[in-house]
Amino acid sequence: SVRVRFAPSPTGFVHIGSLRTALYNYLLAKKHGGQYILRIEDTDQSRYVEGAIENLLQSMDWAGVLHDEGITMEKGNVVEKGEYGPYIQSKRLDLYKKYIEILLDKGDAYHCFCSKERLDEVREKQKALGLTAKYDGYCKSLTKEEVTKKIEAGEEHVVRLKLPANKNIEINDVIRGKVVVNTEEVDDQVLIKSDGFPTYHFAVVVDDYLMKITHVIRGEEWLPSTPKHVYLYEVLGWEAPQFVHLPNILNTDKKKLSKRQGDVSVEDFMKKGYLPEALVNYIALIGWSPEENREIFSMKELQEAFSLERVSKSGGVFDVNKLNWMNNHYIKESPIERITDLAIPYLLEAGYIVEAEVEEKYEWLKDMVSVFQDGMNYVKEIVEKVEVFFKNEVKPEDEEAEAVLKLEHIKELLDIFYEKVEAEEVMNQEAAKRIFKQVQKEKGIKGPNLFKPIRVALTGKAHGPDLPLIIQVLGKQDILSRIQYVKH
Ligand code: GLU
Repeated sequence: SVRVRFAPSPTGFVHIGSLRTALYNYLLAKKHGGQYILRIEDTDQSRYVEGAIENLLQSMDWAGVLHDEGITMEKGNVVEKGEYGPYIQSKRLDLYKKYIEILLDKGDAYHCFCSKERLDEVREKQKALGLTAKYDGYCKSLTKEEVTKKIEAGEEHVVRLKLPANKNIEINDVIRGKVVVNTEEVDDQVLIKSDGFPTYHFAVVVDDYLMKITHVIRGEEWLPSTPKHVYLYEVLGWEAPQFVHLPNILNTDKKKLSKRQGDVSVEDFMKKGYLPEALVNYIALIGWSPEENREIFSMKELQEAFSLERVSKSGGVFDVNKLNWMNNHYIKESPIERITDLAIPYLLEAGYIVEAEVEEKYEWLKDMVSVFQDGMNYVKEIVEKVEVFFKNEVKPEDEEAEAVLKLEHIKELLDIFYEKVEAEEVMNQEAAKRIFKQVQKEKGIKGPNLFKPIRVALTGKAHGPDLPLIIQVLGKQDILSRIQYVKH
């Protein structure tokens, strides 16, 4: 059965490229009734960020990319779930130790005592000669006795993979096809660092094997490292999993999407009020294309439609406008309560409302949010959009709006409108529509000549969302004072 894993390093945030990697793993597992595993790769202790695991789990939870095995949070503690744990590499050191001993015994790995200075020197010389920089094998020929002596003397050391000379290593990548690399171009990779921790390259092979991973689906930046991994499988006598290297996600100028260009982490999008199903749907389509020409997919539908065969070789572009279009689609489809609940924290933060009045004003909040529901790219936009409802004075905002208030019939219209609103008990959509009909009948003012001036008087803008709904949200008093204000 299919067993796949997402194996992030806890660096503090989840790049949307990582979300896509996780998602493709998840989709493949779900499609085939297999397992999706979450493993934390924290062997680089210098890169550890406080709270990173919590943040990671939150992001995945939010996105709905849920693992069958791995780590989860329970009451603030990290707990393990599954039979192949621990699922955090720093808790698996004894396992790496066991397998490095095997490699050392077989002569497929060796101790290296070279200082950083020496390694730098070697690299400089190679570069000067135009050669690819790699370790020169200086420590490869140390005798067992020499090694033991140095270790006993407490000399700092690492353990390296001993690659044979001039051997072709073949990878059959599911997406890339056959890739052949000669060991002359590959470094004797450090497997165990001087702090006793394994490197990523060693730990990933040991863990994927022990966790019975069938498909390694990851970013294409790992393709150049794969020959080392494949060789490790070979000397350990293990069957290698299938390798699936995903194309990069690019920005609109076709460069690799990076943090400097704005929002790239799942958290960024979550905080702006993107809906998880929109982000997941959009991300799924960067680098994978469904058989049918269609764009909207639920998670369930993605699970059914997904296949590795339709993942592309070349990079896919992340276009925030496209994401906005998709998010807008999901916002429009959502029940108003959901969008209101998402909007409330932003309204609180902006100071438009206070916590204590949320319950009592809920229906009104719902109306206000529904004014903008169809036009929102993401929910945080609500903050600027609702500003109009909290102003004391509304002035025409541009030339078009100004011109509207200079129309010949303006005084007549505002007077009668004021009068009719004043006569109503409460102003709601029905009352608004009734008044518009009456004004049309009594004064013969209709269409844009009727709606535009009222809109400008109430909102300052010549165009905008549904006017009767705006009127309902404003309420009688506010309408009267706004009309009064433009009449002066
Ligand atoms: N820890 C690696 C990363 O953060 C995982 C690569 C892999 O999936 O093998 O990208």
